[in-house]
Amino acid sequence: SEEQLAHAQRLDALGQLTGGIAHDFNNLLTVISGNLQLLEADAAEDPATRETLESASRAVERGAALTRKLLAFSRRQHLLPRAVRTVQLLADLSDMLSRTLGERISVTVECASDVPAVYADPGELEAALLNLALNARDAMPRGGRLAIKAREHQVVNTDDDARLAPGAYVMFAVADTGVGMRPEVLARVLEPFFTTKGPGKGSGLGLSMVYGFVKQSGGHLSIDSQEGHGTRVKLYLPAAASFGEESPAPLSRKGHETV
Ligand code: ADP
Repeated sequence: SEEQLAHAQRLDALGQLTGGIAHDFNNLLTVISGNLQLLEADAAEDPATRETLESASRAVERGAALTRKLLAFSRRQHLLPRAVRTVQLLADLSDMLSRTLGERISVTVECASDVPAVYADPGELEAALLNLALNARDAMPRGGRLAIKAREHQVVNTDDDARLAPGAYVMFAVADTGVGMRPEVLARVLEPFFTTKGPGKGSGLGLSMVYGFVKQSGGHLSIDSQEGHGTRVKLYLPAAASFGEESPAPLSRKGHETV
């Protein structure tokens, strides 16, 4: 819709602005960090000075982590995409989540064995799904269900979904039975620094990073949420043509179906 387009354009403009600042800021942090390292080497014999310099270095590292998140939102992240096995990725994620989310949240993962590999940076993809899962956990303080699904999604022509170029995608859906969002909140969640979690709790950069990552990867993200009922975030990422350089298994095309 026109409103969605205006929203996307506003996020683009915000991305360009923050990306420029983050990039220059990161260069300054590199200079500071290099100088601190030189001083640390000089102060090797002086524990008090060394401690002061290490504390400064940790602050620089926190600043660098923040600029990395903003660069991810701005689609200026250094990504190394490759074919990632979807089934394996979700199995690993499910193990990690059932260990970390606690007993009150049940985790289910659904992924047919023939879902194609996804073409994306593996570390960033895992971080994105983890981000969504942790948001889901925060939305279910009294427990609930987290359901993660993956399936193939074909876009035949741009009319199917104006936000995705024609081709094969893997759709990841992360759904929770949590508090959901009011429409005014939903309208702003992709903005960097937008958070409802209160000071010291949320950075407001999680969904911004995820959004930037999927857009930079040639995909798309959509969110459905109902206050009091729950939230479903869908990520669409390009399917890989093969599972890897070694075994170029052709991707099975399912004709003109769309999901
Ligand atoms: P943060 O988690 O640091 O607040 P995010 O960008 O990940 O930053 O999320 C922004 C806001 O979106 C959250 O503060 C919350 O209000 C809302 N939100 C995100 N995910 C969910 C969810 N699964 N259920 C309900 N609200 C959510």
